[in-house]
Amino acid sequence: MNIIIFGPPGAGKGTQAKILVEKLNSFQVSTGDMLRDEIKKDTEIGKKILNNMDDGKFVDDEIVNKLLEKIIFDPKKNKLIFDGYPRTVNQAKNLESLLNKSNKKINYIFFLNVDKDSIIKRIEKRKILEKRSDDDASIILKRYDIYMRETKPILDFYSSHKGFHEIDGSHEIDEISSKIGVILNV
Ligand code: AMP
Repeated sequence: MNIIIFGPPGAGKGTQAKILVEKLNSFQVSTGDMLRDEIKKDTEIGKKILNNMDDGKFVDDEIVNKLLEKIIFDPKKNKLIFDGYPRTVNQAKNLESLLNKSNKKINYIFFLNVDKDSIIKRIEKRKILEKRSDDDASIILKRYDIYMRETKPILDFYSSHKGFHEIDGSHEIDEISSKIGVILNV
């Protein structure tokens, strides 16, 4: 079973993905974590993407798609929880094509819908806990605008999928995870 957790920055995608990884014994595909790891290890990719990430901008599709390919074609990783990918309509099309080639499919899409004010409050809290440079107040608004412009249109692509569910992401973590749990029967 493969699942996409979709939503704006700060919607709790990573948190819900981690809960599902535990419940389903699956693998979290967080492109944000993968990219941060490249920066931490100071790889060639890390050097290229540092400025974009700090500035809240997207990393080039080419780089992200390559990181993703490695995982999709890994036969040991067969239950995937996507968190932070796809982020553009092009990435959604790329995911579709990679999944087709590897005989996999998306079974569920959970759209965690959270309003802008709640997101800003949440990300300000996260900055204190996780010290992410892109959680800075000025960058949050930019990331939200990019989400509205580049990522939200993907919903047109997914909302007719039979496994699509919109969930109110402004609730508490446990409430959201139990709603998802009821749908997945876990
Ligand atoms: P996240 O941890 O998902 O909030 O992602 C943090 C940052 O990583 C984003 O603001 C982008 O700079 C970059 N990033 C993560 N996933 C993607 C993606 N699918 N496409 C482009 N950039 C991404």
